[in-house]
Amino acid sequence: MKTVAFIGLGNMGGPMAANLVKANYVVKGFDLSEDAKDQAQKDGVEVVENVDEAVAASDAVITMLPAGKHLLSVYEVTLKAAKPGSLFIDCSTVDVDSSRTAHDAAEKAGMLSLDAPVSGGVGGATAGTLTFMAGGTKEAFDKAHELLDVMGGKIVHCGGAGNGQAAKICNNMILGISMIASSEAFNLAEKLGLDHQALFDVASTSSGQCWSINTYCPVPGPVPTSPANNDYAPGFAAALMLKDLKLSQDAAKSAGVSTPLGSHAEELYQSFNDAGGSGVDFSGIINHLKGDK
Ligand code: NAD
Repeated sequence: MKTVAFIGLGNMGGPMAANLVKANYVVKGFDLSEDAKDQAQKDGVEVVENVDEAVAASDAVITMLPAGKHLLSVYEVTLKAAKPGSLFIDCSTVDVDSSRTAHDAAEKAGMLSLDAPVSGGVGGATAGTLTFMAGGTKEAFDKAHELLDVMGGKIVHCGGAGNGQAAKICNNMILGISMIASSEAFNLAEKLGLDHQALFDVASTSSGQCWSINTYCPVPGPVPTSPANNDYAPGFAAALMLKDLKLSQDAAKSAGVSTPLGSHAEELYQSFNDAGGSGVDFSGIINHLKGDK
């Protein structure tokens, strides 16, 4: 593959497209935002004026969009404009139903299709170390590998259509719940006169250990790289955590699965967002739980 269309050049898509340029792909980019287009142009992306133009000359079409409705409206146009047999890779985080609808439409149009949402944030997108969770046929996965390799560090094939999205929302439901649990434990410890470092030294090496404590500790001190040491600047903003928890709860409802902690985590992140926390790192919920904001 030589030429790649990249639709959605925002915080994540911009640096992902820039890494493809650095790896010598011709990248034809499109976005609705002038700022995103200007930055992409500076990064060597050939910015085009409409989405058809981006896909017509490309072997693969990558999307990195806000939500399912954007994905489906972009696919409506791009599936008609692309060369038959092109590879469609959607890296956005969207609901499982929209993802599967997009796969069906791509298959009907004679395209290969993969959902490949990511974890790793803007830092991972810039460094080319994202984790990709992919859903789709083995043929689509194998073909996508060379592109995902440029943008990521770990690539997992999770099964058929939509399974990448399923893995992403299940993982992030664990993350939201574990961050709340870790935050509650640090808040309780503080009131009981136990210092942060002491709880960290115990929990990070015993049965309480988890990513939210060991790598992303919500209090300043024990893990110097965690956002708690930088006034909770994101990182991974609380608005994005809320988005992913909502997607997990929509999926749980539509699959008839009981997820009471996932549901309560969604309520707590909603409350944090409503209180002005949407642009704060998601670990900042520790202060909201304490009643500070
Ligand atoms: P963003 O808002 O910065 O970028 C989305 C871009 O899509 C914007 O530039 C917007 O103008 C563009 N867009 C919207 N509709 C369009 C259309 N019809 N045609 C062309 N462009 C269109 O968002 P982001 O942070 O880059 O996130 C993108 C996706 O990645 C989301 O699904 C998000 O949930 C997921 N994600 C984000 C992060 C993160 O840390 N930011 C981490 C993991 C996953």
